[in-house]
Amino acid sequence: MIDSIRGFRYTQIMKNHGREYFPADKEKEGSFVKCPFCNKDNTHVVDSRPADDNCAIRRRRLCDDCGRRFTTYEKVETIPMTVIKKDQTRQEYDRSKIEAGVMRACYKRPLPIDEIREMIDRIELEIFNLEEKEISSNVIGEIVMDKLKELDAVAYVRFASVYREFRDINTFMDELKKILE
Ligand SMILES: [Zn+2]
Repeated sequence: MIDSIRGFRYTQIMKNHGREYFPADKEKEGSFVKCPFCNKDNTHVVDSRPADDNCAIRRRRLCDDCGRRFTTYEKVETIPMTVIKKDQTRQEYDRSKIEAGVMRACYKRPLPIDEIREMIDRIELEIFNLEEKEISSNVIGEIVMDKLKELDAVAYVRFASVYREFRDINTFMDELKKILE
């Protein structure tokens, strides 16, 4: 039973990448779920708990129309996300690749590691929230640059110079000037 497409997709993806996330948002819970007895969708969740070794979530629901209770299970499925590279080849999405690129860009910068990790989390969240099964590496690169720009100018320019393949020092300086202005 799917409560919320967005929440469910998010659950699947987070699970797929070694973490668990169950939408606890009360507004999401209970929406779209019809009562199996009277077919009205005026139901709400009275209890949620992990089931099936944390691979599912079991919810007790109450129908506000007929007062009956029923149970739904949300199964966590694995949907791998694919990254389309510049040469059009496909690769499975891998957080560690983003981490490696960001870490290289932040090398010897005065940035707390927690702040960098938090930024990577925000990058990943933005990627997942696109809800695409396939995502171009360009899109990922732009999201990374966007976040790096807010964090540290030098790290941003380092990343951009590799990513955008600056051909000469002038392009590099132009980019630098743009962000220092
Ligand atoms: Zn009912």
